[in-house]
Amino acid sequence: MALCLALCFSINATTLPQHHHGKVNYRSNKKCLESVRNLVKTTGVASVVSAPQESLQKGNWVKLICGASFEDVVDVRNLSLVYTLAGVDCIDCAADASIVNAVNEGIEAAREIVYLRKPWVMISVNDDEDLHFRKAEFDPEECPLDCSRPCETICPASAISLQQHQSTTELSHGTETLNVLKGGVITERCYGCGRCFPVCPYDKIRMAMYTRDAAATAELLKRNDVDAIEIHTGGRQTAPFEGLWNDLGNSTGYLKLVAVSLPYAGDSTISSMNTIYTMMEPHLPCLNLWQLDGRPMSGDIGRGATRESIAFAACLAAVKDKPRGFFQLAGGTNAHTVEGLKKEGLFQTTLVAENSKDNRSMPTSLASSHALIGGIAYGGYARKIVGRVLSSMRSQHGLVHIEDYPEHLLQALANALDLVGTVKCYDPCT
Ligand code: SF4
Ligand code: SF4
Repeated sequence: MALCLALCFSINATTLPQHHHGKVNYRSNKKCLESVRNLVKTTGVASVVSAPQESLQKGNWVKLICGASFEDVVDVRNLSLVYTLAGVDCIDCAADASIVNAVNEGIEAAREIVYLRKPWVMISVNDDEDLHFRKAEFDPEECPLDCSRPCETICPASAISLQQHQSTTELSHGTETLNVLKGGVITERCYGCGRCFPVCPYDKIRMAMYTRDAAATAELLKRNDVDAIEIHTGGRQTAPFEGLWNDLGNSTGYLKLVAVSLPYAGDSTISSMNTIYTMMEPHLPCLNLWQLDGRPMSGDIGRGATRESIAFAACLAAVKDKPRGFFQLAGGTNAHTVEGLKKEGLFQTTLVAENSKDNRSMPTSLASSHALIGGIAYGGYARKIVGRVLSSMRSQHGLVHIEDYPEHLLQALANALDLVGTVKCYDPCT
């Protein structure tokens, strides 16, 4: 797959647009966008993508996680555009109106390039303190000037930026000029991964937790460009979930899917899931999905990061009394996740074959057999492979729309197709 995309890219690279003094060359871009269309076509995206609910049923559902706390509207828009072209079924984003607008704008811009079906738009909220809902904070003026700034280097989102400045203070006997650090955390880019926190040698970094407001969330759910919600819960106590679910009231009636994201919290996890399902059931007018959250926000770290999520799926597969709904992996998912699922015999295997007596998990609105694991959500890894292209584009051209720089779009799309294709099983160049 990678080889084939590289080939497509090298052929199409002959039509790269020329930029003069930072201006976009639209004639050249038009040609290059044709290469983007050809890449989508030769990869076979259109013939593989199905309605999102059918993808869940087949076991080839792919969700892009922009990040529950990632609020850089330009990157969110461009990521949404790239992954819509790559054929994802759902785009999960922060529960904020401007971010929802950015996602929808990216989807529509993608569909103007190649007309594909729309992925669902999902907003992520929490019922209590949760790692996905926090931001790093520190006062750069308190940082020693000789600090080697490991926080800046380790941040996977380029969300810390520090510069040395001179600060002048008026004193009774004159003025004093001191060098200080300015900048700090770029709040909208911080998604709370926490990696900067332990590396600070001077303990200057704090993590500020927050909870999304239920009333504001309920308003967002009524928008016709929001299709789904994901509720992050801890998996041990079910009372916070019940509180939020009740507060959302009838706003869930507007949705196509309700997802509950939780970590494996020991033996009580499955019974907590069943309790949560019982709470939702009387007011659940749509499909439901369980996001099996392995090692949160770590997919970009490497092969081992995906193990916990696969182990959660294997544990669930072995249980008879599963909660009703679809199951999807997240947390540490990356290019190795499909391979790991295959080793466990869990990749696109049907529930009927695996567990013929358990028909509680089958949504009545769908056919009587569906994949045991509906699909995979990709966050940090998906953002990393496209993010390096976005960051190079930003440093060359500033805050721009990726479709205006199709040579970057082509590269980003090739990377995204490589990842999404592992689940969708694209058959390129045929
Ligand atoms: S928490 Fe993560 S994303 Fe936020 S500033 Fe620290 S390293 Fe960067
Ligand atoms: S590592 Fe700590 S002390 Fe050093 S620049 Fe970063 S926040 Fe400041």
